[in-house]
Amino acid sequence: MKRVLLPLAFVLLASAALAQNTVSVDATECRRGIFHTHLTIAAKAGPLTLVYPKWIPGEHMPTGPITQLAGLHVTSNGSELHWTRDLVDPFAFHVDVPAGASSVDVDFDYMSPASTFGGGYGESANATQHLGMILFNQVVLYPAGARTDDITFKASVKIPAGWKFDTALPIAAREADHVDFQPVSLTTLVDSPIAAGDYQRIVPVGDNANEHVTITADSASALAMNDARIDNIRRLVAETDALFGARHYRHYTWLVTLSDLLEPQGLEHHESTDIRQVEKGLTGSDETARAITILSHEFVHSWNGKYRRPAGLATPDYQAPMIGELLYVYEGMTRYLGDFVLSARTGMRTPEEDREFAAYIAGNLDRNRPGRNWRPLVDTAVGVSAMGLAPNEEVPYRRSLDYYDEMLPVWLDVDTTIRAKTNGAKSLDDFAKVFFGAPSTSPMVKPYTLDDVAAALNAVTPNDWKSFIYARVYSVTPHPPLNAFEQAGWRLVWNDTPNWYEALRERLAKQTDVSFSLGMWVKGDGTISDVVFGSPAYAAGLMPGMKVTSVNGRKYDGDVLREEIRAAKALDVVAEQASFSGTFRIDYHGGERHPHLERIADRPDVLSDIMRPHAAAK
Ligand SMILES: [Zn+2]
Repeated sequence: MKRVLLPLAFVLLASAALAQNTVSVDATECRRGIFHTHLTIAAKAGPLTLVYPKWIPGEHMPTGPITQLAGLHVTSNGSELHWTRDLVDPFAFHVDVPAGASSVDVDFDYMSPASTFGGGYGESANATQHLGMILFNQVVLYPAGARTDDITFKASVKIPAGWKFDTALPIAAREADHVDFQPVSLTTLVDSPIAAGDYQRIVPVGDNANEHVTITADSASALAMNDARIDNIRRLVAETDALFGARHYRHYTWLVTLSDLLEPQGLEHHESTDIRQVEKGLTGSDETARAITILSHEFVHSWNGKYRRPAGLATPDYQAPMIGELLYVYEGMTRYLGDFVLSARTGMRTPEEDREFAAYIAGNLDRNRPGRNWRPLVDTAVGVSAMGLAPNEEVPYRRSLDYYDEMLPVWLDVDTTIRAKTNGAKSLDDFAKVFFGAPSTSPMVKPYTLDDVAAALNAVTPNDWKSFIYARVYSVTPHPPLNAFEQAGWRLVWNDTPNWYEALRERLAKQTDVSFSLGMWVKGDGTISDVVFGSPAYAAGLMPGMKVTSVNGRKYDGDVLREEIRAAKALDVVAEQASFSGTFRIDYHGGERHPHLERIADRPDVLSDIMRPHAAAK
């Protein structure tokens, strides 16, 4: 293992000698969405191409928000240099550095958008009247061709007067609202967002002050995450130690930002994560139930995604295209370990809630995915870079980023297969230790291929793992591997009892989910958000965007729709679309249908073993 670490140390020493690049971010006007940036970039006389980060780690898409860069000026020794944008690559700018110059100065503004305009993380607002996120990929240009590991920046920021801030970036000095950071590689800089705001609460959750949650919110009341939820995160640190057996961070910070203006999402980093949720994200009961497992998901990425990364995603800079194929390991195993296994082991969900989550995912992939008849699961990962701007409609036929959800049953299939082959002596936990574990390291990247994954699985227990994965991931499969639940002692069943997770989603999204019966989702105002290709609603001629106004002669609301479904007779639905209004008959008589997991009496309850806490009780 030293063999791997030594060359990295040399790289760090070598790059430290070249430390001349600086980035100063003036965020004092971030309330209005403006981040001023000033860069000094080492340069030689002659042609110089500066590039804006395009492929952002964790987004896996060419979603660097180049459209939000404005006010660009490049100078050298005080003289303005003429810049031209590359005729083919809009992320590249050319200048001629005059004789005698050893650097150029670059000024521009990054404009945080008022609302989300694309699919990428950076293509959404990152500032409100009370808080701001500084993402360094948005406020830097760097020389084309430079490896981001090899180029060093010394960063400084100025935040609005009186605001608090937190970041995983090592601080050199702070004076009032001005913060100087230690020089780091561009990789580390872009990997280390800053959260600043009026209202900020730091919650220690690990031993030795190594891990903490930093909540930054639009109101003081939104900071009041309760003790039971804080205890979930304490247990998460203990459970990941037990699961992986090593750490690849020096310290870890969950930067959780709560605002109704921000796009709810999460982005992983080595030593922190940028999680954005609604203002009540950690205080509302439903909102917390939804948000809490994101802290687990993003933490798992410190091992799976940041430390171990598919070779196709471990690119030398932010301009090289990323290859998403192995996201079914990067995201898919994180869905299994972070959103399912650890959610139960840490108490984020009760075992019953966790089973309802798994049943919803399995049921959705089984019943609401006609797209699985043409598209293998891996294709949803391979195609991810083109999906950023995909509309939200016709998802069942087109498929979504299914490499997340569908890998829950697939990795459960792997886990239960290991357990069956070893009579319960080994499990996917052993793979986690082999693949993501010892020795503990500082942040570094160990790229892998599918062969490496198969070899690590074979080290746990011999099997033809590549064929196993090809059959479930690379082939067109009409159904997800529901047998995985049966191997775990449970089976997927359907009845008219609401599913806990499905109902939680309905309440948070303010829509009625009748996808498992009629084959559609309907917003509170009657607008159909999506229809399952081939379903009864589809056969009736209903389509996304139409607005349902009445059902069987009764004015539309979600409860009325459910009552009429329970009556188990055909539904006459009146729907509007622009100037059109008409009646559509849905020929469905099956009543309400919801997925659940039901215990198989004569099989061992492996699922409960998987969910049981593994860390020693404190
Ligand atoms: Zn993820």
